[in-house]
Amino acid sequence: MRRKIAAGNWKMNTTLEEAKSLSNIVAAGSRPDDVEVILGVPSLFASSIMPGIQNYSNMSIAIQNCHQNEKGAFTGELSAAMIASMNIPYVILGHSERREYFKESDALILEKCKMALSHGVTPIYCCGEPLDIRESETQNDYVKSQFEKSILQLTAEDFSQIIIAYEPIWAIGTGKTASPDQAQEMHAYLRKLISEQFGEEQANKTPILYGGSVKPGNANDLFGKADVDGGLVGGASLKASDFLEIINAF
Ligand code: PEP
Repeated sequence: MRRKIAAGNWKMNTTLEEAKSLSNIVAAGSRPDDVEVILGVPSLFASSIMPGIQNYSNMSIAIQNCHQNEKGAFTGELSAAMIASMNIPYVILGHSERREYFKESDALILEKCKMALSHGVTPIYCCGEPLDIRESETQNDYVKSQFEKSILQLTAEDFSQIIIAYEPIWAIGTGKTASPDQAQEMHAYLRKLISEQFGEEQANKTPILYGGSVKPGNANDLFGKADVDGGLVGGASLKASDFLEIINAF
């Protein structure tokens, strides 16, 4: 039985009051005990959000990025050590917006993953293909290459810690969702890649989330697929009632 995870990625949204209200409503809402809820919050607000969720053992915070270096003269950046020192367990790495707007390469994302893991912070590692790749039906090769240049290079011990999010770029924030079958097909393929590198046991344990316009209306069908262990949710995680419906959709 794999973990069930509903992760929200708030991106660069919310004011302090909105962030506290959103996280408090989700925390107090009716949710199954066995679904882990991870809030990918603006880092500036993490310490203000913490008191409202700390009594819920199945809720935690993710930071949305970290730097690949230990520390130093990198104005405006956040280190994995800082995240760890606040007891924040997760960091989202390799999100397509970081790849596109901040030109993050697979090699850089691997460095960030290693730095996070060295501080005991778990990467939620994102991968996924753009529309032209999906249209040319080469999405498996594309994501395989992302894997090979990044997380497949981790040690088995490091790899055993991570969470993967498959996020087809054409489905992020577009209202278009991969069909449950498309998601299942890719997730099964990713599990095969993991199995080839780290063995079947690890492949069967690794949580693989789907991301890309997950909504209350499609979450149940997506999460019902054998290899889909939950979602990384952008837009719909900003509305407490929608996110709670998604959390309850397993
Ligand atoms: C995301 O950015 O990780 C995401 C999946 O966004 P949305 O749910 O809005 O498509």
